[in-house]
Amino acid sequence: MKRTVTHLADGRELIYFDRRDDADRSAIDRRPLEPRPVASELRYDPLTEEWIAMAGHRQTRTFLPTGTSAECPLCPSSDTRATEIPAYDYDVAVFENRFPSFSTNFGTYQDVGGLSEVRPGVGRCEVVCFTSDHSSSFSKLSDAQVRLVMEAWADRTAELSGIEGVEQVFCFENRGEEIGITLAHPHGQIYAYPYVTPRTKLQLGAAARYQGPGNLFADVLAAERAAGTRVVAGNELWTAFVPAAARWPYEVHVYPHRQVPDLAALTEEERAAFAPLYTSVLRAFDGLFGVVMPYISAWHQAPVRRDRELAYLHLELFSIRRAPNKLKYLAGSESAMGAFVNDVLPEEAAHMLRSQVDQE
Ligand SMILES: [Zn+2]
Repeated sequence: MKRTVTHLADGRELIYFDRRDDADRSAIDRRPLEPRPVASELRYDPLTEEWIAMAGHRQTRTFLPTGTSAECPLCPSSDTRATEIPAYDYDVAVFENRFPSFSTNFGTYQDVGGLSEVRPGVGRCEVVCFTSDHSSSFSKLSDAQVRLVMEAWADRTAELSGIEGVEQVFCFENRGEEIGITLAHPHGQIYAYPYVTPRTKLQLGAAARYQGPGNLFADVLAAERAAGTRVVAGNELWTAFVPAAARWPYEVHVYPHRQVPDLAALTEEERAAFAPLYTSVLRAFDGLFGVVMPYISAWHQAPVRRDRELAYLHLELFSIRRAPNKLKYLAGSESAMGAFVNDVLPEEAAHMLRSQVDQE
């Protein structure tokens, strides 16, 4: 594996991860780019104890056309077209988002009155191009390519954790127009947050209060493996299951059998075993209704500076599609109250997904 750090015309970092050690990464970004915007501001909601990022500059970003590779900014550059990636080809490429919600480039912030505290949105947002093949998808990546993506995630997790003020690193993929994705090119994102996210805080609070024999996450995994009714797929080192109290119609959690805090802590063997398991679960999603499943795939990693011994790296994958032409929308109960109502029984969802995995 070869890792090459370079810079785009406006100073943003671009990092290539190549399988070949002799890949030439000397291409230069010659586009005339505007200077980078300053970071968002964070405002504290004293009622929910949550930070909200006010990323006003994101409203001005250009909405990029969907569809063809002819206009895609994530495809490699060519003689006639310059994209975000100056090289004519790449394996995996990671670059700083042009319109980030969090950034180390911040201005000054003023008191806004009320009970809200305000501070700069220190952090970083990156885009991960999973492949140079515009028409591919994560589910179609080879095991070797998934390994390279995992290498990139682990590298970015370790490096972004080192930024002063960063408290949590989140690697994720949003897929499908239904999720609001404007770019068809297979890609994900990484957010380095200046706070511990609400869902992680909830889970770690529960883990701290748990009185069971082991770690809460480990005991949940062990109980799901013992019950078996919601297990979708598994191997020696990983298990994928629908959680007993799933919130989404089709939701799968993927856990390594060994408790580790983050992606950087996974062994070679664990990374190798994850690749085929995860892509088979993604293909099972697409096989459910014979149409592309919109999904969110979210790596839950330990915070950078606290509760690392309590946390348990795992992936939470879910779709908002509940039937061939029906989507689950977050309506009053979910949006206003955070109270979920799920139309699909987890055991039924697991059975359907398991049948798809078995058919492969
Ligand atoms: Zn593309």
